[in-house]
Amino acid sequence: MSSLAVTDTAWEAVIGLEVHAQLSTKSKAFAPVSIEYGAAPNTNVTPLCLGHPGTLPVLNENLVRYIVKMGLATNCNIARKSIFARKNYFYPDMPKGYQISQFDTPICYGGHLDIRLEDGTTKRVNLTRIHMEEDAGKSIHDQDPHNTLIDLNRSGTPLIEIVSEPDIRTPQEASAYMVRIRQIVQYLEICDGNMEEGSLRCDANVSIRPKGETKLGTRTELKNMNSFRNVERAIQYEIERQIQLVENGGTVVQQTRLWDANRMETRQMRSKEEAHDYRYFPDPDLPPVIITEEFLKDIEASLPEMPDVRKDRFVNEYKLPEKDAQILTENKYLADFFENALNGIDNPKAVSNIVITEVRRVLNEENIGIEEFRISPERLHELVSLREGDKISSSAMQTIFNEMLESDKSASDIAKEKNLLQVSDTGFLEPLVEQVIADNPDESARYREGKKGLMGFFVGQVMKQSKGKANPQLVTKMVQSKLDSE
Ligand code: ADP
Ligand code: MG
Repeated sequence: MSSLAVTDTAWEAVIGLEVHAQLSTKSKAFAPVSIEYGAAPNTNVTPLCLGHPGTLPVLNENLVRYIVKMGLATNCNIARKSIFARKNYFYPDMPKGYQISQFDTPICYGGHLDIRLEDGTTKRVNLTRIHMEEDAGKSIHDQDPHNTLIDLNRSGTPLIEIVSEPDIRTPQEASAYMVRIRQIVQYLEICDGNMEEGSLRCDANVSIRPKGETKLGTRTELKNMNSFRNVERAIQYEIERQIQLVENGGTVVQQTRLWDANRMETRQMRSKEEAHDYRYFPDPDLPPVIITEEFLKDIEASLPEMPDVRKDRFVNEYKLPEKDAQILTENKYLADFFENALNGIDNPKAVSNIVITEVRRVLNEENIGIEEFRISPERLHELVSLREGDKISSSAMQTIFNEMLESDKSASDIAKEKNLLQVSDTGFLEPLVEQVIADNPDESARYREGKKGLMGFFVGQVMKQSKGKANPQLVTKMVQSKLDSE
């Protein structure tokens, strides 16, 4: 497929996202059993998860707490009364034959969130709704050559679905939106936000229309994108597919398409079903969810410091440049890491620099999260403290940092072992400074006549005499006072 740029054409893309976030509650949505990942198959199940007759669901209060947090953090209205509905369809890994969800009365509705675009501007994306639902189990097709295996551990895991208005216009905006959602759920600590493991999933609805048109075109729905990159690529592909189709006289058919990351294309999975196909009706086993003012106030009071507030605090309290504060607070765990490493160091910019350049470089190279980073914030704190106290040079800091990646040793142990501690002993440096001045009478004279640029020369000579171990700031001061006093 040609890579025609959407901006060059007479077409505009319209995109709306449905994002599922798996909540990090301890137990399932309607049954008192763990949702812990990685348990032996079919061990985290109760008769309810198996769809046995006579079993009744009981709502997990934390599911409501978590979704209300999300609603408040995204400026939603919170319905004081909302109900659960049954969404009826058959899945082999869904024994009840229906999914408990919400239909015409979602608990959160009408919010918005602001996404950050590459050029530094922000764009508001409106939210239609956020509702509660349960996940299905898992069908495993690739372990037994003859059978599909079913694991019901995941069945009944609490999810929230965040549905956006069709306000998104480009693949880049779509991934920026996902980044923003991940950031918010992580800050709220309601979901780990891991797309690879499926804790955060996204369906993208995509249509095109001639530029200037206000009516919506027919949409397709894309599934199976498990990274921000893939969200972007799949939408890009789909926009181009639709444009070519229409320009060649075809029409877009409403359907669900699967993204194939290996072949880099979307493929038809099924024709798109409509809401009425699911025969939604209120679940008679669950009472309406009533939100009291007290409950709401309690949750409001428990909301943590959110990303934008934290960013502003980093600028005001630590005097960091806006850009540093932005990068550090983008990911809650990185911001936590920074603050733990800082822990009282006078120069926050020095800590920010090493986190933003060195730490993030390693995370990128190894494709890991800050949670898996091998240097603890406490160890990094010691390293930066050594540098800020002029105990080591900046190049020694780099050497020690690299060494710390490979071992559990502390920064000061490595500095001693590698003989990298700077000499700040004036008794040792004094004779070296005197010698260098005595050996260079011409330079000394010119310096005194005003050629202050020669300072670098003197310091360099002393550094050489000390085999690179002298503290250059201290040497500078000593040379200065010597030359000025004579
Ligand atoms: P369904 O479950 O049938 O997909 P939802 O209402 O849950 O329906 O989600 C619809 C999503 O599709 C929303 O994010 C909405 O913004 C988006 N959407 C609706 N119509 C269009 C369209 N013509 N083009 C692009 N996105 C659309
Ligand atoms: Mg959908």
